[in-house]
Amino acid sequence: MRKQIAAANWKMNLTKEAGKKLTEDILSAGIDLNDHRQVVFGVPFPYLSTISEKIDGRKNYFVAAQNCHFQKAGAYTGEVSAEILKSIPVTYVIIGHSERREYFNENHQMLSEKVNRCLENGLHPIFCCGEPLSIREAGEQNSHVEIQLRESLFHLSKEQLTGFVIAYEPIWAIGTGKTATSAQAQEMHAHIRNVIAANYGEEVAATVSILYGGSVKANNAMEIFSQPDVDGGLVGGASLVAGEFISIIKSLKK
Ligand code: PEP
Repeated sequence: MRKQIAAANWKMNLTKEAGKKLTEDILSAGIDLNDHRQVVFGVPFPYLSTISEKIDGRKNYFVAAQNCHFQKAGAYTGEVSAEILKSIPVTYVIIGHSERREYFNENHQMLSEKVNRCLENGLHPIFCCGEPLSIREAGEQNSHVEIQLRESLFHLSKEQLTGFVIAYEPIWAIGTGKTATSAQAQEMHAHIRNVIAANYGEEVAATVSILYGGSVKANNAMEIFSQPDVDGGLVGGASLVAGEFISIIKSLKK
């Protein structure tokens, strides 16, 4: 079975103390993850090390950075490279979140370079894609997402795409409380898998974990995650509440 992942995206929230407490509360639930289930904490840069130490030794619990720079190193004040993240160490890096695409003008080319920097350093990208409401209303969501994948990922080799993690996040569902229906999520996830299969073959496509993101909560996670092509979720608001995130972890396919 491909990896089923509950990934938290704390965004620009929580102090270091609050982040430690939240992590402790979630770990104290003692959820034992089998080999195909993972929990990922996407935390602010300043306390990646702290949270990484907190989860140390817990099987299949990992830490993610929420971004990295597309250059290898150099005079980019305030930025963080993939090589720096690797030295913490970090396992995952969220790449191309819609908030970064929108507020920081991240384009396809930059994101493709960020993916490259991650892979060069042995880090696993969680590559985000998804359409705004206007595109969904025009019925053009499939081609919109296909272009995002093609422009930033399809230069990769079969080996690099094997076991890759993608997060489909319809922008109209992020932080809005408006979740895609499980049918809408399944439809897009199947489309993503078909597009990968058409370019890389069925075998590679079957290994790619496709997470759903957009107002996932304790009360809808089970229904969404039960869809055949949904392999867990990227979770914003609900990942800041221990009880909510614990339920979301427990909703992963067994
Ligand atoms: C996100 O930030 O990736 C996200 C999906 O947020 P929320 O769960 O709050 O909609």
